[in-house]
Amino acid sequence: MVETLLNTVPGTRDILPGEIWRWQRVEECARQIFTQYGFMEIRTPIMESTELFARGIGGDTDIVGKEMYTFEDRSGKSITLRPEATASVVRAYIQNALYRGAGLAKLYYVGPMFRHEKKQKGRWRQFYQIGAEALGSDHPAIEAEVIEMLLSMISSLQIETKLLVNSVGCVKCRARYIQLLRGSLAGMLQHLCDDCRRRAETNSLRVFDCKVESCQPHIQKLPAITDHLCVECANHFASFKGYLAAAGIGYQVVPRLVRGLDYYVRTAFEIVSGELGAQNALAGGGRYDGLSEVLGGPPVKGFGFALGLDRLVMLLPDAVAMEAKYKPEIFLAYIGDQAFRQTLSFARALRRQGRSCYFDFDGGSLKSQMRMANKLNASYVLIIGEEELAKGLFKLKRLEDSAQWDVTMEGLPSFLAESAALANPSASMKAGK
Ligand code: AMP
Repeated sequence: MVETLLNTVPGTRDILPGEIWRWQRVEECARQIFTQYGFMEIRTPIMESTELFARGIGGDTDIVGKEMYTFEDRSGKSITLRPEATASVVRAYIQNALYRGAGLAKLYYVGPMFRHEKKQKGRWRQFYQIGAEALGSDHPAIEAEVIEMLLSMISSLQIETKLLVNSVGCVKCRARYIQLLRGSLAGMLQHLCDDCRRRAETNSLRVFDCKVESCQPHIQKLPAITDHLCVECANHFASFKGYLAAAGIGYQVVPRLVRGLDYYVRTAFEIVSGELGAQNALAGGGRYDGLSEVLGGPPVKGFGFALGLDRLVMLLPDAVAMEAKYKPEIFLAYIGDQAFRQTLSFARALRRQGRSCYFDFDGGSLKSQMRMANKLNASYVLIIGEEELAKGLFKLKRLEDSAQWDVTMEGLPSFLAESAALANPSASMKAGK
């Protein structure tokens, strides 16, 4: 497509009314379940100082090195559109001294993230994440609980996934492991791709993210971090897995699972779906105990995740999504000017009573209004014509089965309430007198 001012920027898109209810269904489900677990929403700015991400995510990562949308604002300050939200949430936690509150800070967010990634199916440059962060404890049971919350949300949307877990060790045991890894990588550099060769030097754990086919047999031979954990990290990992098992959550240990961000320690996890193709990760997260200090804050333990909403929405079964789709309860079909004016006031009254109703300002024939009512999947059509107005008695038609009743406007609310309660109301009752 030729790029013009009438096209969205590559890697971005409009989410149109025809699909927005899929997103709303998912977001409402997340809000409801996260609230049950005591998580509260936090909204941080979309733009932050570049330094926050450079330090918080790590200069050697692909995100900071290649993918950030960074610009100078008019005062010459370097600003970045957030590529992820954990660093922002931890900044907000420190800046607003949320650690002074009682117990854990359990926070969740929903919103857009920005990464200048290679164009690929399932990858957007503006994409959306729902994430949660539990700040203030390093208890492994919190990790299991956060994962339980996330899985319970995903499964209540009838989406099947798999949980992959690993431990990436702590600063101490990982440093020893990385030495070992570098040694092994040095002996196989000639077999690896350019990216892997560079990573072997700068950020050797990232080698495990390589997707190049010819690298895979060599990467398989590298030592696994889970065989080199210190006693504390090994105990923590065992305890975490014990809590998962106690919660009835199945998982697979994947020793080569390392997350893309530098600040992870100990528990790391990913939730994947077979239906997503090459970009199969739906959510990922882990523990980031050192992040607050890296940003200049007090020592704070943290565990959290981010889930890709774009991918979740893709996986959402139509039947589940339908539950949130807009459909008016009553479509008002009118004939003539006087009826139009009356329709405006009927609609106002019905909406004040909490009913959702719809009518077409351009009117047209009764047939075309009926067509629109069907298209909108309205439950009922109320027909307002001159004759009906004169009698004060209107035809109410249920679109599902074409059942029809005569109702007065005053009687309509109680009629609707009754008919919702009755499984099979008779097709010709008179209501509203
Ligand atoms: P990350 O913040 O990289 O750990 O990603 C967490 C989740 O966000 C991934 O599992 C994806 O579902 C989603 N995600 C990350 N990057 C993108 C992207 N460019 N486009 C769409 N979804 C993404």
